[in-house]
Amino acid sequence: YALQVCLPLNALGFVYRESRDAWVNAERLFALLGEQPEMPEVPGQPALVPGAGEVVFEHVGFDYEPGRTALDDVSLRIPPGTTLAVVGRSGSGKSTLARLLLRFYDPDRGRILIDGQDIRHCSPVSVRRAIGVVPQDAALFNDTVASNIGYAREGAGRDEIVAAARAAQLHDAIAALPDGYDSPVGERGVNFSGGERQRIGIARAILKQPIILVFDEATSALDAVSEHAIVKELERLSERRTTLVIAHRLSTIVHAHAIIVMDRGRIVEQGTHEELLRRNGVYARLWLLQKKTPGEPGV
Ligand code: ATP
Repeated sequence: YALQVCLPLNALGFVYRESRDAWVNAERLFALLGEQPEMPEVPGQPALVPGAGEVVFEHVGFDYEPGRTALDDVSLRIPPGTTLAVVGRSGSGKSTLARLLLRFYDPDRGRILIDGQDIRHCSPVSVRRAIGVVPQDAALFNDTVASNIGYAREGAGRDEIVAAARAAQLHDAIAALPDGYDSPVGERGVNFSGGERQRIGIARAILKQPIILVFDEATSALDAVSEHAIVKELERLSERRTTLVIAHRLSTIVHAHAIIVMDRGRIVEQGTHEELLRRNGVYARLWLLQKKTPGEPGV
């Protein structure tokens, strides 16, 4: 993990210096992009003042490059405390929604509001402070297990770290290590599996207690037991929290309050699981397809 750790820290130097917290949130999405965020802090930008956690996209359009539209006229509202799942094939714009919400980029058209505030006018660090990201594969760094979990919230005590690990169903595995929470992570230390790394992301989010949660569901097939457990933990974590799930499989979607189906940067269908099945459109076809080949990513 040494490489995994050092690269993002260097690449994201300025974010890291300004806020470890922001770096936690940024990890997976930056890793995906392999690039620096384009949204440096602008001195004097006011901080977002989080409220109940309402998220609104108003006619949002975004192009990574001129002429290559990644999002086109996307309007959506996630009422406070509810879960919106986004599905769509690879490249349809799901991650871009999350990147814009985290203010890694600003929309080229339209606007994004958190609790009524246009996030373009709020400092990026303050936006990221309000949002917890559970990446598919949490980045780990060369430090103890406790620090790897605890850095999600500065000043978190050992008891809080243990409580978060318990809630993320990691405690037993950690307690069984020779040095428990003080065991080193990294090249010569503990190697966590993919599922465990996602749990570390969950534990960090539990510690952080953000009002908004972005959950990037693992694309790699977890075994059925792990997947079921992670979905349960996500349900608990997203209770009373505004949640955006980038969904790759069906397990999380069924429980979402609302689902949007993306295709080439546009929302092509939206509704609840039942509504979308009744509609017999894209979603219904994806559902049938995935039922035939469970575990297949890219709903
Ligand atoms: P996946 O399920 O594979 O993660 P996605 O639905 O999340 O895909 P996005 O990552 O949001 O899709 O990508 C939307 C579109 O934007 C795609 O056409 C993609 O090629 C393009 N894109 C994504 N990131 C960049 C980038 N950094 N530069 C240029 N184009 C990009």
